[in-house]
Amino acid sequence: MWYFSDEHRILQESVRQFAIQELTPRIEKLDHEEGFNRDAFFKMGELGLLGITVSEEEGGAGMGAVSATIAMEEMGAADASTTLSYLAHSILCVNQIAKNGTADQKKQFLPKLISGEWIGGMGMSEPDAGSDALGMKTKAIRQDHHYLLNGSKSWITNGPIGDVFYCYARTGEERTDISTFLVQRGTPGFSTGKKFSKMGMRASPTGELVFANCSLPEGQRVGQEGKSIKMMMQNLDLERITISGISLGIARSSIEVATRYAKERMAFGKPIGAFQQIQERLTEASAWYEACRSLTYQAAQMWDLGLMQDREASMMAAKAKLQSAQMATQVALDAIQILGGYGYTREFPVERYMRDAKLIEIGAGTNEILRIIIARQMLGTDVAG
Ligand SMILES: Cc1cc2nc3c(=O)[nH]c(=O)nc-3n(C[C@H](O)[C@H](O)[C@H](O)COP(=O)(O)OP(=O)(O)OC[C@H]3O[C@@H](n4cnc5c(N)ncnc54)[C@H](O)[C@@H]3O)c2cc1C
Repeated sequence: MWYFSDEHRILQESVRQFAIQELTPRIEKLDHEEGFNRDAFFKMGELGLLGITVSEEEGGAGMGAVSATIAMEEMGAADASTTLSYLAHSILCVNQIAKNGTADQKKQFLPKLISGEWIGGMGMSEPDAGSDALGMKTKAIRQDHHYLLNGSKSWITNGPIGDVFYCYARTGEERTDISTFLVQRGTPGFSTGKKFSKMGMRASPTGELVFANCSLPEGQRVGQEGKSIKMMMQNLDLERITISGISLGIARSSIEVATRYAKERMAFGKPIGAFQQIQERLTEASAWYEACRSLTYQAAQMWDLGLMQDREASMMAAKAKLQSAQMATQVALDAIQILGGYGYTREFPVERYMRDAKLIEIGAGTNEILRIIIARQMLGTDVAG
């Protein structure tokens, strides 16, 4: 992008090399077996990627949303699954602890999360509360200087393998009485329930978190009791901008594979790229990808420069993710069509790209919820509800 700084370009090149060397060679097998590239996290730690948005004084790389989105795009182009796990770790857990945690909490959790010794995740969604996140039922009841947590979280990225979870729970009767707790694997009363088998993002383990009379000291509450909604919503905006980078990476790889194939595959005595219907798919894909790339990095740049107020940030993040996610699914589907029979097989990665791309139309806010956010900002809540 024209406004990438030298620092951004150096990051882009180093993450691209990391992805080629450490992610690409392993993803086909991991995708097939629903495994997890644990080694990659240690390497990301060495490269300074795990605390990418954390200040240098706190042990991070001191970068922002543009850099995080670059990392997502470069890794996402090779292996969207590991990138999704990286996003849950670095943006949903590490960034939140650095932004909202106390000095003690940062000291306790950040060093091992930033080195890759621990893996982090975030627990908001529940079996009966996904889009309606404030309808969560997990309760934290205060008992002197402790809280007793009961309930469960569902579809949690890194749930089956994570060490630390940034979790939300209800601490009052109002829908908005939501508090945040840091929960470590091994805490009595806390377990990671079942692991889900999925159509895509198969090398990103997804599972449940279960709280059964789980007692947590008051010191593991993040922020004020009952005042977590703003922190939660702001992080959702950052998640939506940065996860769009994964969609961009998937689309870029889909276009690269399809373009190469269109030049090489012969039919009726010509490369199939000579046919106008193939050209139409390729050109539309390329133009839509570039449009989404501009929109996503603009949102990231505006975030870093602090140019957006709360609602505007939410609308920009929603627009970037709504378009990028739909674009990546369609572009991956078009790549499958261009590759014909081969596209439908595991001989080429485009079928994986399509399975992975679809998740981003659901996770971090479905397309439908993002349209509601945009409509409310355009029409006002009186009209759009
Ligand atoms: C692989 C994966 C990883 C995930 N990782 C995490 C994680 O790390 N942490 C976490 O907390 N959550 C995570 N999630 C959960 C994810 O955020 C939710 O699945 C998502 O928010 C949708 O919620 P839901 O599945 O309950 O769908 P529902 O809310 O039940 O929605 C079902 C359908 O109804 C539509 N719908 C709902 N409300 C409306 C409305 N008002 N108007 C129009 N349509 C509506 C939805 O758009 C959707 O199409 C993950 C999910 C997946 C699949």
